[in-house]
Amino acid sequence: MMATLPHNIKEAVRLVANGAVGKTQLAEASVFRIREAGHLNAFTFVTAKKDLSKQNGSKTPPTRPRLEGVPIAVKDNFCVSQMPTTCGSKMLYSFVPPYTATVVQKLVDAGAIIIGKTNMDEFGMGNGTVDSIFGPTKNIWGLEKYRCSSLSFDDWHVPGGSSGGSAVAVASGLCLGALGSDTGGSIRNPASYCGVYGLKPTYGSLSRYGLIPLVNSMDVPGVLSRTVDDCAVLYDVIKGLDSSDSTSVQIPTTDSIPSEDGIVKNIRIGLPKEYACDGMSPEIISCWREVASLLEKDGANVLEVSLPHTKYSIVCYSVLNPCEVASNMARYDGVRYGHRSHKKGLDSTESLYAQTRHEGFNSVVRGRILAGNYFLLKRNYDKYFIQALKIRRLITNDFNNVWKSECDLLLTPVTLTTAPTYSEFIQWDNRKQSSVQDFCTQPANMAGLPALSIPIKLSMSGLPISLQLIGPRFSEARIFQVAKRIENVVNFKHCK
Ligand code: GLN
Repeated sequence: MMATLPHNIKEAVRLVANGAVGKTQLAEASVFRIREAGHLNAFTFVTAKKDLSKQNGSKTPPTRPRLEGVPIAVKDNFCVSQMPTTCGSKMLYSFVPPYTATVVQKLVDAGAIIIGKTNMDEFGMGNGTVDSIFGPTKNIWGLEKYRCSSLSFDDWHVPGGSSGGSAVAVASGLCLGALGSDTGGSIRNPASYCGVYGLKPTYGSLSRYGLIPLVNSMDVPGVLSRTVDDCAVLYDVIKGLDSSDSTSVQIPTTDSIPSEDGIVKNIRIGLPKEYACDGMSPEIISCWREVASLLEKDGANVLEVSLPHTKYSIVCYSVLNPCEVASNMARYDGVRYGHRSHKKGLDSTESLYAQTRHEGFNSVVRGRILAGNYFLLKRNYDKYFIQALKIRRLITNDFNNVWKSECDLLLTPVTLTTAPTYSEFIQWDNRKQSSVQDFCTQPANMAGLPALSIPIKLSMSGLPISLQLIGPRFSEARIFQVAKRIENVVNFKHCK
């Protein structure tokens, strides 16, 4: 009989441990549900049923594996050997990597079962999961309003991006947790729109080995889940130094699972005034105030703080991102792997490269490569690239200053509004969307700080509103303690 999926990882682990369900039964149920929910377009690849039992982790685990039998989805920019890894792009459409990303291997070693790869904006550039070669992913929230027939929709709410497939998979109960990646907000933005937890860990606390790079100096793998405890256990399983990634660092191996009630007493929580920016919906502002006063009632010291360089973060990112993109994308030339143009009459290596890259990348990726190469021209380098690095330092200093003397954590909105509809979203191009959507998420990437998106409540129109906790480097455990308290108090009801 088909097992139903439990609500969260903690319950799943208990069911497998006491023998109530078999080791692959939950993964089978997950794959079944993914097939039923094909209309959401959350997955780019689903593991065949016969392959679920083949994912044996380390042969002799020291203790019972912490995620035994737990079905987990992986964003399609993490390499998993034997599975296609496309980054949502024609360029990598038929690419099957010969190796597995460290964070994925750690999940498998802990007993998790990878049930498939999730949809994303091409190479992680976007905020809607609308720019993928596989077509857009649909947010589960609000979908019933738009359903015309079983498979066609006249509109839907975007899930956010670029890890929108992972967020939808978790929000709609297709699996119990997912990996995403976050360079400017790509985990927290979709987590916020889909009403799930989304952790962007401290830069360097997780290995990037096997994560196809977007912006090396800001990319971090992270997790999406339905509870704070699940988020913490996934983080604990995958964190730590990796000799294959020289930017990863040694961090304490102690667990970060919060206590049952969470801890907020005497924690100083800053509300950065610059985050109440133009265009932020009044509903989000009032939710922010409500949660701040809840924490205050629970014994936290809540105070207003200032991060004066916040407003420069987006423009700084719009220079640094294309520069690193231009250099990272140079490897895709159709020679060693990836798409290769078969157009007739290509009579030089140069023209093969140009045609291949024209066919393989969408206009967003091509636009960023051109912008990056322009910023990196000898005559522009100081004016743009070096200048942006200096501003990045000022943004980081803003955070360091508040940690030094004012507060332990920051509480902020994640997005300016609830999830827009697809038809609203595509009225602005990718660049304009990023400049609005990443306002509250991007500064944490500039400074390499950990940040967690926490679902709080539903808006008047029934869509999730979320808030973000940001902390100093390596303060994940403290973030989980405060988040746990918020989770207990707000009691957010998941969609499925
Ligand atoms: N909006 C950002 C961009 O398009 C998101 C990047 C990310 O976090 N992957 O670059």
